[in-house]
Amino acid sequence: MIFTHEVRCDCGKALVSSAYGSGEWSSLRCEKCGSPGALIDPLSVSVIAERLLYRSKQELEKGDYTISILVSAMAVEYFLTGLYQKKKGMEYYRTHKNLATQQFKEAWSNDKALHGSFSDKCNKILNSLIGIGFDEYVVNQQQINFSNSPATKPTDHVKSTLLDPRNRIAHRGYIDSTADVAQLSLTTAAIVVDIFRRIDSSVNWEAFG
Ligand SMILES: [Zn+2]
Repeated sequence: MIFTHEVRCDCGKALVSSAYGSGEWSSLRCEKCGSPGALIDPLSVSVIAERLLYRSKQELEKGDYTISILVSAMAVEYFLTGLYQKKKGMEYYRTHKNLATQQFKEAWSNDKALHGSFSDKCNKILNSLIGIGFDEYVVNQQQINFSNSPATKPTDHVKSTLLDPRNRIAHRGYIDSTADVAQLSLTTAAIVVDIFRRIDSSVNWEAFG
């Protein structure tokens, strides 16, 4: 997947850098004044999820709602997979005293823990990291607001606003998604990525290593 980002040069000219997948941003030189414009981000799971959310926003603004929804869901899936792989990586390090190779990381992405419904895998992974599931975590964090009725479980809200629209597209080939649905998907994805980010920074990762 290609990501693009606009950077404004000091002289005012807009420069566009691009990156492929988790790769680095292309280097820039302003055609107008010749000064270099750098766009560097550390390639953490969090940053890649951010790239995906930004791409989803770009698609939404462009009017490609179907693609926007797919990419929103990818941001959430990407971060959740990253949390699981980080834990596996720490465990691997404890046993082998070496960092896991790319080959191992790819093998882990086929693990059973990453299959099944979002709520199933999310709860399994969060339980192994923080001892509670997604719904319990969200309810404990008063500041997280899914702006839906308190009777709706957070995982159900994620399902109805993000995963069901994604599945309709990815599994049934639906191509007529609307702006409202895409906007809601992106809002939900951004909140879930933020929740995963908080969890990532609160986990005692050394305990696994
Ligand atoms: Zn310039």
